[in-house]
Formats: sequence, structure tokens, C-alpha cells
Amino acid sequence: MIAVIAEPRDGTVHRGSLEAIAAASQLASRPPIVVLAGTGLEHALSALAQIETGGIFLLEQSIAGHEARAVVTRLTDWIREAGPELVLAAHTYWARDVIPRVAARLRCPLISDCTAIRNGEGRRLFTRPLFRGKLTADVAVEGPWPHLATLQIGAFSSDSVQSSTESAPVTRLLTTRAADDSAGIADPPFQESTPSIDLSRAEKIVAAGRGIQDAKQLELVGRLATAIGAEVAASRPLCDAGWLPLDRQVGSSGQTVAPRLYVALGISGAIQHIVGMKGAKTIVAINKDSQAPIFEIADYAIVGDLNDILPALITALADD
Ligand SMILES: Cc1cc2nc3c(=O)[nH]c(=O)nc-3n(C[C@H](O)[C@H](O)[C@H](O)COP(=O)(O)OP(=O)(O)OC[C@H]3O[C@@H](n4cnc5c(N)ncnc54)[C@H](O)[C@@H]3O)c2cc1C
Repeated sequence: MIAVIAEPRDGTVHRGSLEAIAAASQLASRPPIVVLAGTGLEHALSALAQIETGGIFLLEQSIAGHEARAVVTRLTDWIREAGPELVLAAHTYWARDVIPRVAARLRCPLISDCTAIRNGEGRRLFTRPLFRGKLTADVAVEGPWPHLATLQIGAFSSDSVQSSTESAPVTRLLTTRAADDSAGIADPPFQESTPSIDLSRAEKIVAAGRGIQDAKQLELVGRLATAIGAEVAASRPLCDAGWLPLDRQVGSSGQTVAPRLYVALGISGAIQHIVGMKGAKTIVAINKDSQAPIFEIADYAIVGDLNDILPALITALADD
């Protein structure tokens, strides 16, 4: 049995938890068991109502507040009791707080920030980044169950979550105050920034990468986007440099997008960028390096210098 620890968030469940459910469904013939732990779980439960699961467990706390230790105790007890072979969770700030503690208490392996999981060669292989994403490694875990893994946000598509018309059985385990609950007062949950622009709804996106070298070129990016009615987005280095606001960043630590058209300008195609846009229907990539990894997923590859191509493209569109 595979279990997914879903994260209650703002009256619903974190998007990454749906991605974890999709990942679990692909790995096993039976739908996963979903576990929700914390307080105020009823709203989060309703967000799972239309999703195919093998059952939902609510580990409710009798006191309010995010108390990592209390959640850890309940999850650890539940995993010991239920005995899943694999436990998945999205690699969120909440999970980074909770899941390693659960793994330590269970004395079981945890593979964090996975970008893929596959069954093969008689064992399960977990793909995860190394050296700040420069390399990826396939990790095989030895030793008894359970194995725990967190999944990089955007690495799996929540679109492939199976919907269901029948409600899965829900088991409510209301726990009273445990000894651990009072062992620490937790800070408020880490607030991830709320994007003011929702790129996930954009039909067309023109995204700029480090191949864009100055403000003049950035202006051309904007003109190209206007010409085709697209939103402007960027890879992380451009947002880090302050060239575009952070809410325009696409990738594992930015937004996940799935437009009809994604035009990647001077973007190399690092995994952290790819996971945020690989769901685009048509990808056009322009890069002067014919070996750039972005071309592996591009539908249309234009090898050349943006200094030449960008003005020519804008002129051609204006002439249309
Ligand atoms: C924990 C973590 C999270 C991350 N999250 C994200 C994320 O959310 N989003 C993200 O994008 N990155 C993220 N990154 C960074 C990621 O690893 C890459 O460093 C980044 O995506 C590279 O951006 P880039 O492709 O614009 O730049 P580069 O990798 O430097 O690529 C620039 C490309 O432009 C091309 N080029 C240069 N000049 C020209 C020209 N004149 N004409 C045409 N082509 C040209 C080059 O050939 C090159 O391929 C993250 C990294 C880490 C460690």
C-alpha cells in the first residue's frame, strides 16, 4: 500500500499533495491511502472528495495551531499501525519540517525532493537532484518498509489525478492532547509569497532566460509577448537579478504553467525550470547552443542568436 501525506492549506490541500496522489496512482495498481493531519481538516477533506483514493484518514488534533511535534507523533503512530510500503508527500516547507522527523522516529529511509519515481529491475528507483540540480541520481532504497519520499513541486502533474464519483471511506481519528503537543510552541507556518499574476492560467507565455543580456533585449521580449498576446515569464536567474518580479518565475521554486504556447528565449533547460513548464502543449525554444537541454523537450528548435532572431521575429509578426 502507498500512502500520501496531504498538507492542509488555507481550507484546501496543497497543490503538491495532489501531485503526490497522481505520482502514487502511477506506481501502484490500487489508489493510494491519503492521510491528513492537523486541525480544521474538514475543508481539506472536501477538496479530496472528487479524487480517487483508497481511503482517507483524518488525524485531527484537539488543539489549534501548527505544532510540528504533535503532527509528527500522530503521523508516526499511524504509519506504524497501517504499515504502508511507501509514504509520499510534496516537498513543501511544511513537509520539510515534519517528514524528516517522522523518518527519524521510524528509523526508515527518506529520499527528499524527488523528480521521478519508477518501478524497475525488481526495485523502486527514486530520481533526485544533486549538487544544486547540476546532476540527477537514481537512488534505490534497501531495507525494510516503510520508505518515505518527498516530491519536488511540479515534478508530477496533478492533471493526471483520477477523479471518482464515489466517495472514498473516511476514517476520523480524533486524538486528545498528547504529551508532545506542549513540548514546543511553533512559529506561524512559513508564508510562501502569493503570486499577484497567475501564470498557470496563461494561454501563451514568452519566457526570458539568462540569454537575455540587457534591458533593451528585455524590452524586445515584452514586445514579442504583446505581439502574440502572451504573458511574460522568466527563469530564476532573471528574477533573482531583479529584472522581472519573482511572481513571473517559472520552475520548481516559481510557478507551474501549462500554456498552449511556451516560447523559451535563451533558457538552457535546467530541470528546475523544466518541471515548471513541461506541461506546455507547444514549446518553441530559441538558443544559440544547439546542445542546450531545452531542445530535448522543444517542439520547435531555433538555433541562433537572440540579437538576430528577436528583432526579426517582431518585424515579421508586425508585417502579418
Ligand atoms: C533549489 C533550486 C531551485 C531552483 N528553482 C528554479 C526555478 O524555479 N526556475 C528556474 O528557472 N530555475 C531554477 N533554479 C535554477 C536552475 O538550476 C538554473 O540555474 C536556471 O534555470 C538557469 O536559467 P537560464 O536557463 O535562464 O540560464 P542558463 O542556464 O545560464 O542558460 C542561458 C542560456 O541562454 C543561451 N544564450 C546565451 N546567450 C544567448 C544568445 N545571445 N542567443 C540565444 N541564446 C543565448 C545559452 O546558450 C544558455 O543555454 C533553481 C535552482 C535550485 C538549486
